[in-house]
Amino acid sequence: MTTALDAIGEKLRAGQRLDRADGLHLLTDAPLLEVGALAQAARFRRLPDRTVTFVIDSNPNYTNVCVTDCQFCAFYRKPGDRDAYTLTVDEVLAKVEFAAARGATTVLLQGGHNPAIPLDYYLALVRETRRRFPHITPHFFTASEIRTMAEVSGLSIHDVIARLREAGQSTLPGGGAEILSDRVRKRIEPKKGGPDAWLEVHREAHRQGLKSTATMMYGHVETPEDVLDHLDAIRGLQDECLGFTAFVPWSFKPGNTLLAKWITHSRGPNAYLRMIAASRLYLDNFPHVQASWFSEGKQAGQIALHFGADDWGGTLFEENVHRAADYVNTITVEEITTLIREVGFTPVQRTTTYELQRSYWAPPTVSDRRRSRSRPASRLTTPCRRERRRRISARPRGS
Ligand code: SF4
Repeated sequence: MTTALDAIGEKLRAGQRLDRADGLHLLTDAPLLEVGALAQAARFRRLPDRTVTFVIDSNPNYTNVCVTDCQFCAFYRKPGDRDAYTLTVDEVLAKVEFAAARGATTVLLQGGHNPAIPLDYYLALVRETRRRFPHITPHFFTASEIRTMAEVSGLSIHDVIARLREAGQSTLPGGGAEILSDRVRKRIEPKKGGPDAWLEVHREAHRQGLKSTATMMYGHVETPEDVLDHLDAIRGLQDECLGFTAFVPWSFKPGNTLLAKWITHSRGPNAYLRMIAASRLYLDNFPHVQASWFSEGKQAGQIALHFGADDWGGTLFEENVHRAADYVNTITVEEITTLIREVGFTPVQRTTTYELQRSYWAPPTVSDRRRSRSRPASRLTTPCRRERRRRISARPRGS
């Protein structure tokens, strides 16, 4: 007898798009290991190389002042709170310098919605990062921060993005999507607007040539139907503009949040692996799916690489948002490459936009390790001269 999952497998092999009924089955009833096997086959159809990418990055914040009061957020402080802060441009640049000294190529900078910050501050952050650290990609400001800039400056979303682009910005992080469903957003972040608030910014960014990621924070008040609304929304926008580089799901962490009154635990690895695999299958127009070692744990990240994920995310030298929810996880470049190799893949360092930079196909030698003590991270683990010759030089990966 043909099962619903057999029928989904047939559709996938015939190159057909999955519909909502298929998505619902993948997210709920389908046997997890079989969903994972289908997702891994889809991953290898799109990306046949046994490589897994990662980026050397950092994730600092410029302000924790915010007027949006999201129920799931432990990071923000109200204006005037004792431990509220807003860094100067120079203080933020010192954080970029710290990341650059450790070999970072990406800095993901985010902050609260602070109405006291003028647009010129954001433009100066982008411009000065580009000028002083040309090898760093300023992967700055989520969609809702861009909306705040528009409100404060009186400019349109189009004009704010154009000004950021002129200052040197070429990518946006996908944070702030949470779940792109009216019902969920009204419940957990009523001041942030519905799904269109996030989609409009990414649509405009893509139209102006910027790339971005799409994220999802699940494991709170959403249903599988809400998750499908989210996946349909980003799949539809990708059909329109092809501007997303990757999909990055992670689970809600309740520590120190208002939502913790109702949601006391994070969803575990099974829910995470199902989300990774189902999204790889449903998002047939996304080049990359990221395994979130940071929020789900390193072992779950390793298993996710066999459930359709092809990217390990970043080193995240600095991270404060999950830390505020009492969730802390750290990693080194050497540990990343070891973890990826342990589960049968070749680690490859990438740029913000997924261009390949350096293959770490063999483990570091003893002398590499000795040298690593006195060198920045980007130069640590190239194992030998032969490896340097094999290094992949910035060729585009996937579609
Ligand atoms: S998630 Fe962002 S917008 Fe929401 S309260 Fe926290 S800092 Fe503010």
